[in-house]
Amino acid sequence: MKAVVTGSAGFIGSHLVEALLARGYRVTGIDRQSRPDRPGYRHAVLDVADDPSRTGLAALVSGAQIVFHLAARPGVRGIGPVLREMRRRDNVIATRSLLSVTPKAIPVVAVSSSSVYGGSRDGFPSREDDPLLPRGGYARSKAEMERVCGMYRARGGGIAVVRPFTVAGEGQRPDMAFSSWLGALRRGDPIRILGSRDRSRDITDIRDAVEGLIRAGERQVNETVNLGTGVTHRLIDLVQALMDVYGRETDVVVRPSLSEEVDVTLADTTRCAQLLGFVPRTDLHTLLARQIGAAASAPAMVAT
Ligand code: NAD
Repeated sequence: MKAVVTGSAGFIGSHLVEALLARGYRVTGIDRQSRPDRPGYRHAVLDVADDPSRTGLAALVSGAQIVFHLAARPGVRGIGPVLREMRRRDNVIATRSLLSVTPKAIPVVAVSSSSVYGGSRDGFPSREDDPLLPRGGYARSKAEMERVCGMYRARGGGIAVVRPFTVAGEGQRPDMAFSSWLGALRRGDPIRILGSRDRSRDITDIRDAVEGLIRAGERQVNETVNLGTGVTHRLIDLVQALMDVYGRETDVVVRPSLSEEVDVTLADTTRCAQLLGFVPRTDLHTLLARQIGAAASAPAMVAT
């Protein structure tokens, strides 16, 4: 069985590659960043948004049993025309380019984001058929990416559009909250919470996130599906859990946040349970112990 993973050098993509290899898949990874080949794994350094007639993307995808599309410019923060263009290119054009060369018979799993909801409304869990209210450039680019996927489906392609809720664990991107808070804790600096201590997030363990993506591919899901736990944690409780597991306290300061930071994220997990046959469950303390342990042995993964 051959699987293709775009964004294979990234946080979620590299975990997905490991999980697929462990299940006996041969994996072709595609990313702008290089990674070494190894048994079962072949890496192609390539920009998915480039003209596919010049990059050889079609040849890499052909013969795959599942294509996982994770390559993107993630991160809700940041504005300006340069970033807008980067998001358009990596989140929208890259998706269009990949789908243009993927044979319709191959199931595709495209990774969107819970940010398309614009946060939970009145504390209710976000459901896949809720109207999208993306706030900020990243969320809007993911909503546009979903539209591209919808057009592909309308033309007969099988595609799961997966909306993960904040993914955490070993190797988390340095710009994400746990990683940057951990960096502050290690330096003895104050931990900065953006907006309010009472804002809350549905946190998905990277292991469950990867399991959900593989199930979406193997079950040939052809719908949009949330990937979250259905439980939301206040930011101050997340900080406290991190300090408890790390075994050190530091000051916590609240700083203003931009409008793209929503107050509450919370997944409705009904469709996830139906289509993927499980609901992610996050044991925060175990998750944080793993992330802290991995950061200690790979300091470059932590923002400094
Ligand atoms: P990441 O930045 O660690 O990984 C993305 C990878 O894609 C990087 O290695 C990057 O080099 C590559 N890439 C970007 N544009 C590319 C292009 N045009 N051509 C080739 N490679 C390209 O991000 P991540 O956190 O692993 O996120 C993976 C996916 O999951 C993204 O689509 C992201 O939007 C989505 N997502 C992530 C989270 C989360 O909590 N991490 C939550 C919701 C959705």
